[in-house]
Amino acid sequence: MIDHADDYIDFLNEAVTPFHAVAELKRRFTASGFSQVDPYADWNVQGGDRLMIESADRRSLIAIVVGEQCPAHGGYAIVGAHTDSPDLRLKPKPTSEAAGVVLLHTQFHGGVIYRSWLDRPLDLGGCVYNIVRDDQGKPKYSENSALPEVKATLVRARQPVAVIPDLAIHLDRDKNDGGKINPEVWLNAVLGTGTRDELVPKLSELVGHDLLEADGFHLHLFPYAPALRVGVDRSIILGPRHDDLAMTYAGSQALIESLEASSRGRRTRVAVFFDAEECGSMTASGAHSGFLRDNLLRLTRSHAGYVAGEMDPEQAFAASFVVSADMVHAHHPNHLDKHEPRHAPKINDGMVIKTNANERYATTGETEAMFRAICERAEVPVQSFVIRQDMRCGSTIGPITSALLGARTVDVGIPMWGMHSTGEAVGAQDLGRAVAAFTEHFCGLRE
Ligand SMILES: [Zn+2]
Repeated sequence: MIDHADDYIDFLNEAVTPFHAVAELKRRFTASGFSQVDPYADWNVQGGDRLMIESADRRSLIAIVVGEQCPAHGGYAIVGAHTDSPDLRLKPKPTSEAAGVVLLHTQFHGGVIYRSWLDRPLDLGGCVYNIVRDDQGKPKYSENSALPEVKATLVRARQPVAVIPDLAIHLDRDKNDGGKINPEVWLNAVLGTGTRDELVPKLSELVGHDLLEADGFHLHLFPYAPALRVGVDRSIILGPRHDDLAMTYAGSQALIESLEASSRGRRTRVAVFFDAEECGSMTASGAHSGFLRDNLLRLTRSHAGYVAGEMDPEQAFAASFVVSADMVHAHHPNHLDKHEPRHAPKINDGMVIKTNANERYATTGETEAMFRAICERAEVPVQSFVIRQDMRCGSTIGPITSALLGARTVDVGIPMWGMHSTGEAVGAQDLGRAVAAFTEHFCGLRE
């Protein structure tokens, strides 16, 4: 099996926010012959086309290898993952001065482990928006839409520009006995010593964009430390955002590698990367939207093999299989009792199928068997996970996607420690296995 660890680390170090994840995915897909479709144009697609559909908010992406057979008859082989991770984002009025420093005030996204953000070098990046103006300085309107014209710019400092200092144990005596962290108080980051007028222009220089002139922004703080291989056998990858960039990487890499196995096939292959999973998926391009369904229906109707009046585009979903790919809690050597021993996935021991009786995962007995069939063909070992009955189960894009499409869906992933920490740990071998299993799913019968 190919070792994907180093390539994944490169991906992870570029995909620092959902905006950057989508940009890096687009760069990789473009290098493999994919091109972006225009959502405002009429589509005409045929077998072998390699397409990308970017969401308007630039935080979600669908990549497609169009099959020879119209999807109304051939269905879609889908892998889905998410581009967002729990992180800290700047408030709309982000700066203040206190104790001789400039503070960046943050709001948290998703289930952040507060303490993992303390005492770490932090980088800053995201997307900045500026109103486009005419010759007289008045805001312009777009010609072909209802939208005022706004220019979006991706930015990133690529420097350790901030830190959130912890409080000394002498000033916080019960720190080691469950000392609480109030995110409103504790999670503001120091941008440097001096005044706002001195430091914000410096930050603007580093990100290459005048932040004081921004009319809107999404700016994220994220760990500056790059991901690394650790362990004497280098078998573990330590870094931020494995949830869910490990599966985002595996899904995208599998789609690219599936082209080597078979560049034109009957079935249509789809890799979808949704933003906003960590906060419920209810956005214009999250899993709980029409982003995937509407674009797949459009794709089916614009396929060269589609015969209007003879086929229904919705037929495609009956013949489709969705692999919802998200991370799994690995059995923890210091906390063995957090798992039921028969359902305790081990790091570097293979892919995991997740089930939940209350449908927090989309797996059914039938889709479990189907995914086992794929893994058997790919020679990938499979483990099982179910949460202890005295603990609360997480969820994924799986149940939402299966409900919206009405398509068979399985929830799978690879094991990791420290989910949502800024230093998550995942097994290097499992990554290659996920790529192999997803590649098999995309290729299916080799035509
Ligand atoms: Zn996740």
